[in-house]
Amino acid sequence: MSQRVNLEAPTPYELRTGQGIHVSEQEVQAALVSGDLGFFHSFTTGSTLDGPGVRIVAWLTGCQFKCLYCHNPDTWKMTNGIPVPLARAVSELRKYRHGLNAMRGGLTISGGEPLMQHKFVCRLFEAAKQLGIHTALDTNGALGHRLTDEQLRLADLVLLDIKSWTPERHQRLVSAPVEPVLDFARRLAAASRPMWLRYVFVPGHSDDYDDIARIAEFARSLGSVQRVDVLPFHQMGGFKWKELGMAYALANVEPPHPSATERACQIFRAAGLKAL
Ligand code: SF4
Repeated sequence: MSQRVNLEAPTPYELRTGQGIHVSEQEVQAALVSGDLGFFHSFTTGSTLDGPGVRIVAWLTGCQFKCLYCHNPDTWKMTNGIPVPLARAVSELRKYRHGLNAMRGGLTISGGEPLMQHKFVCRLFEAAKQLGIHTALDTNGALGHRLTDEQLRLADLVLLDIKSWTPERHQRLVSAPVEPVLDFARRLAAASRPMWLRYVFVPGHSDDYDDIARIAEFARSLGSVQRVDVLPFHQMGGFKWKELGMAYALANVEPPHPSATERACQIFRAAGLKAL
């Protein structure tokens, strides 16, 4: 029997497992079709990193990637998350409406990979928009084809992770192909949807400056990338791999020197992009 935990967490680096194991596979499948129920690792308040202003971030469970550097491998399995009826999620969100608007923030849905639960995400975004709350989707992009053009517009901003340009390196880093991610980026650009790109910089794994230059050139060509975040690798989620009994290939990797990530930022800036 899992220990029940609060939906709100001080940080997403809390290890959470087995919160939804009492939900049957049939009920999970029904929830994915209807969007009536979402599976949450947690939500956090006060983020200034996951979109403009000050934000609530909903961390959903379920992910089809297996990034070597994942900080939250407990989010991979959907039933590790807390099952939350849509109405409860909306009522939680409503409590923060005035504060979020006063702080020019909004709701960011992250994960895990939120589009594993795309129906729930769309319904929560619809409710947020009815409440006048800015919406951002933080996604690895590979399931973007699940969204209709109309649903794409429910996200005021897409935070799109690009893990690598090179197909072989992308496959090795995340165990999935890069092309669907790039296709989604192109589709967002064609629809003039605002994007922030996110790039995780990991010494020895994603620190190839030629690869980064190719991403920068691609990002420039899209025309709707407002900002690029170069995120330095850290070990805050490293303990989770051990606790989950999973082999962690990056256990001995140190965070990059700030000058190394700054050089990556400069490559994006040289392509005319705002990079932080
Ligand atoms: S896409 Fe995100 S949640 Fe999924 S494995 Fe990669 S880092 Fe982890």
